[in-house]
Amino acid sequence: MHTESIVDGPGIRLSIYVQGCPHHCPGCHNPETHDPAGGYKAGLGEVTALLDRHSDGLNGVTISGGEPFEQAAPLAVLAAEILKRGLDLVLYSGYTFEELFSKSKSNRDIRFLLEAGRLLVDGPFILDEQDLDLAYRGSRNQRLIDLPVSLRSCEAVEWELAGSFDSGSQAQGFSLAP
Ligand code: SF4
Repeated sequence: MHTESIVDGPGIRLSIYVQGCPHHCPGCHNPETHDPAGGYKAGLGEVTALLDRHSDGLNGVTISGGEPFEQAAPLAVLAAEILKRGLDLVLYSGYTFEELFSKSKSNRDIRFLLEAGRLLVDGPFILDEQDLDLAYRGSRNQRLIDLPVSLRSCEAVEWELAGSFDSGSQAQGFSLAP
């Protein structure tokens, strides 16, 4: 878990790396997060205490991995705590927006997580499309998805890099120990 970051989304962010990822992208920069049995368990209280300790000057929280949407239920609870503190939420996923949107129709935790998020960096890392100049992502296939706008229009709408998080947010809503 990292406590401060300026590379995982706009502003100063707390980055949380969840454990377990089914995508196994060749060239992944976080291979130690792949094993779902690895890492350590953290209780919700432990994570919210961390949020409160680092709240000064913090713009938001980024949940990355690993694959966050494999742990949608506990992360939905955490997302609610993040939004309650007035912080924005950026999510990373090896799934595309279209795949997650489809899953969200039968999984309310995934739906909640998408609704809680401001930005989704989507899709697997593809080594052949690696580009070190991209903001917040590693390969050209990955997109910065404006979640509130995309959910309203039921299709992926990319976020304008020059934009801010000030408008359009519909804020409402690790391995966390059960
Ligand atoms: S989705 Fe992310 S964490 Fe998972 S293998 Fe791909 S790059 Fe690594």
